[in-house]
Amino acid sequence: KWYAASIKICSFFIYKFINFNCLFLFSFSKIDTNTSKPLKVYPLPHMYVVRDLVPDMNHFYEQYRSIQPWLQRKNEAGEKKGKAQYLQSVEDRSKLDGLYECILCACCSTSCPSYWWNAEKYLGPAVLMQAYRWIIDSRDESTHERLDKLKDPFSVYRCHTIMNCTRTCPKGLNPGRAIAEIKKLLSGMAKKPEPKLDTAALHK
Ligand code: SF4
Ligand code: SF4
Repeated sequence: KWYAASIKICSFFIYKFINFNCLFLFSFSKIDTNTSKPLKVYPLPHMYVVRDLVPDMNHFYEQYRSIQPWLQRKNEAGEKKGKAQYLQSVEDRSKLDGLYECILCACCSTSCPSYWWNAEKYLGPAVLMQAYRWIIDSRDESTHERLDKLKDPFSVYRCHTIMNCTRTCPKGLNPGRAIAEIKKLLSGMAKKPEPKLDTAALHK
């Protein structure tokens, strides 16, 4: 079984099957509390180690940067950027639940066998879930471009639905589902719904 506990900073790997990050142990109760047995602590698996338990996260953050994790508008010049809000209905906002809570701890990505073997080209569950967070945001207008960038055989399609990612997430999030939703959008099986509110209504 995969267990995880979490906080940002650095990530450890325990008992070969338990990923967790240091300082705050959100899910500590899931870890064997029998202190008579030794507890083995490892750095996150399949990562280059800088020192001791500290993995090199540069590649992971580069991949996160590559999905452009910020709101993008088509007609920003004609809008009151920073001076008025973009509207979003309650229903549209609820689509971000389960996505925005990600703390980018990388527990899911480093538990993913596909990411172990293809980390150079496969974005991995953490980054893909954040890609989906922006794809499905009703206020974002770069949906087509975002999906276009993921169309190659590696970025998304190395995911084989093994679901270690979802079992490992210390926040109880479901990156496996987010990847499945991206695949549906890429294949045309699903379409991003139109926003329920005029997102730029306050900019006119
Ligand atoms: S569902 Fe996809 S991303 Fe998650 S562990 Fe499996 S292969 Fe990796
Ligand atoms: S989805 Fe969960 S395990 Fe993956 S980076 Fe986010 S918080 Fe960590």
